[in-house]
Amino acid sequence: MSGLVTAVRVAIAYDGGAATIASATLIEAADPQIGLPVLAGTDGVTLRLRDPDGMVVFSRTLPDPGTALEIAGDGGALQRLSGGRQRFVVVELPWPGPGSTIEVRLTRPGIERERPSALMRLAPVRPMGLEGAAPPLVVHPIWGADNPQALTLLFLPDGFVVDEMPAFHAVVEQCVRLFGVTEPFAGQTAALRVAHVDIVSNESGISGTQGRDTAFGAHFQPDIDRVILVDQARALKALNSYVPHGSGVAMVVANTPRYGGSGGGAMVFSCDVRSSEIALHELGHSAFGLADEYADAGQSATDDPVEPNVCGFGDRARLKWADLVPATTPLPSLNADDPVPSPPPRGIGAYEGAKYHSRGRFRPAFDCKMRTLGQPFCAVCARTIIGILSRHLSSA
Ligand SMILES: [Zn+2]
Repeated sequence: MSGLVTAVRVAIAYDGGAATIASATLIEAADPQIGLPVLAGTDGVTLRLRDPDGMVVFSRTLPDPGTALEIAGDGGALQRLSGGRQRFVVVELPWPGPGSTIEVRLTRPGIERERPSALMRLAPVRPMGLEGAAPPLVVHPIWGADNPQALTLLFLPDGFVVDEMPAFHAVVEQCVRLFGVTEPFAGQTAALRVAHVDIVSNESGISGTQGRDTAFGAHFQPDIDRVILVDQARALKALNSYVPHGSGVAMVVANTPRYGGSGGGAMVFSCDVRSSEIALHELGHSAFGLADEYADAGQSATDDPVEPNVCGFGDRARLKWADLVPATTPLPSLNADDPVPSPPPRGIGAYEGAKYHSRGRFRPAFDCKMRTLGQPFCAVCARTIIGILSRHLSSA
């Protein structure tokens, strides 16, 4: 039994508040409905898939359009950057047949609460074949290499000329090692397939701003050190060409020794050893529907975010992850005005300050990779990731 179903890989482009379908590709993939957390809350971005009769047959969170541009300090603490740039998110959906529509609903606190949703008719196409001279896909003989349901991590080089390919391979190995020691991925490696393609760029290195002739056009965001952007459409085309069947995510390695990266439909990170952490955090958004757990100073929220790892309430009755909190743990565990004990508290509770607000929103742990790069994922994020990875474990 292969456990595969007909699914649609959809790239959605966010431009300001509007969402449009950039591409929709029919694939055979592990059932997208397995392992998703139940959505609860009112603030955030959700996608609903309606069958030809208009019934909602699938829903999940989408990354907040504003979260792609994040910047990490030297200690890994993350900060959100505002930015009106178009960005992409790639999701896999079940395929209920012709006449299906998807609806992207953005809800926001206050006046924007009932912002109109984008409603789009889904018309997927079959993936296109590769041109004759295209370099081959190299599947690493590890982990879920032979698992048809696996999530393929497709590593793509940008700014590497022919004789620099060993350097690209070294970065891939470095990133694979990180996955191999980072829970919950380390315990679920059978759900992951590692592959790379030696796509040669015409020029070495990536641009300080724009204009270098590389495979995916990687460049630093002007005026913002550490944020590297790529041509998301080109990376998605490579994903559709090289992973036409089964689930996959494009991971672009940018040829620069400077620290940096970003998320979106495709992850991008540099050759700096710390940069692979950016990919893990951004994958938390794009593949697993997790919210940022960091706060922007001073602001208060009165809404409950839709994601499973942030909650608008710090009391036991309404906390989304109350089942993971020991009966003896006080709730809320730490309020915004409380002094932080040294060492900081461990364990799952309700810690005030999450998803861009320092008050009125709670996170599950004092720290987590969705708050600070280099930290472990908290138990709530780990549980969410494991749930979704369960669909990528072979049922054979
Ligand atoms: Zn977390």
